[in-house]
Amino acid sequence: MSRNLPPGVTPADIDRHFGGPTHEHEWEPVERDYPILEDMAAIFHERCVWAEVVNTYTDRQRDEVYYEYGRECDETRWRRFDLAYVTELTRDEYPELRLDRDDIDRLEEQGAELFDTVVEAVIEAEQAFPNETEVAEIDPKPEQGQVVIHHNGYEFGYEPNGGDA
Ligand SMILES: [Zn+2]
Repeated sequence: MSRNLPPGVTPADIDRHFGGPTHEHEWEPVERDYPILEDMAAIFHERCVWAEVVNTYTDRQRDEVYYEYGRECDETRWRRFDLAYVTELTRDEYPELRLDRDDIDRLEEQGAELFDTVVEAVIEAEQAFPNETEVAEIDPKPEQGQVVIHHNGYEFGYEPNGGDA
């Protein structure tokens, strides 16, 4: 690709003007607007829907505008919300069990039986998602979003960085 460069100039000497991002990515879900739940994480698959508008036409009779598009962006990304907490759902004001991610990690280090119970509950909920779980909230916002589901008497919360923002 250096055939049009002046003699003595190599691609390493110059900045590229094309091929880099020319726009703010416009992220939208790929296929569906809920995440995949697996591996103690809620994972959103998104693609950029940006396309360059190279022409517009107005149909005066129907008062409609048509767009002709040029280049499109084909970037995709995966975003991961880690499990931030598990709470037992009870009618009491104070649930019997409320475990943050730190608590869960500590149980794992201690080899506690409760860790296995919690992980089993998480895996069951993730396999049942979305149809056989109650979806309390799905908010994909990168910074303050969260995914909250209920299953088998537990509430599971997934947050960006597992809640340690
Ligand atoms: Zn893009």
